[in-house]
Amino acid sequence: MELDVSKALLAQGNQFPFTAEVSVPPQDVVGETVSFDTVKLAGQYSVVEGTVRLEGELTTIAHATCAKCLAPASVPLALSFAENFRKDANEIEDEDFRYEGSKVTLDQLALTLIMLNLPMRFLCGENCTGGEGLDAYSQDIFKSSCEEESQTQRPFEALQRLLTKDEEV
Ligand SMILES: [Zn+2]
Repeated sequence: MELDVSKALLAQGNQFPFTAEVSVPPQDVVGETVSFDTVKLAGQYSVVEGTVRLEGELTTIAHATCAKCLAPASVPLALSFAENFRKDANEIEDEDFRYEGSKVTLDQLALTLIMLNLPMRFLCGENCTGGEGLDAYSQDIFKSSCEEESQTQRPFEALQRLLTKDEEV
């Protein structure tokens, strides 16, 4: 997905709103496949002295399997970002992304933001006790209650809880 920033290049210093959708392919994260809903970006862009600045929020839902019971587990992500694109950026050494012409590519930005913010492991819900001793029936209950919960809880709380849980283990 490319964002055409030619308006901002012509009117440097002005901010322009944008929304974009990016498809991020499934990623192998320490042996586990994590897939993503369509990644949505919304915010504004501007150009100052040839540097394109994109600010806004990225939202998506990451899907993997619960580290304890192997049920499907999803984690909503809502990430604020403020990133620069430069024509002379070296993406390996710089924090900035590179762009050419009058378009910036959003795929690498989206992938980088997501990978930096993924939880170390997925849990289907904070009360998951794992698969031991659970029959299929109660696993189904766990699954559905977990899914409901992940839609209502705020993403940062969910991440926080996952991180805290990891520390306790
Ligand atoms: Zn679980």
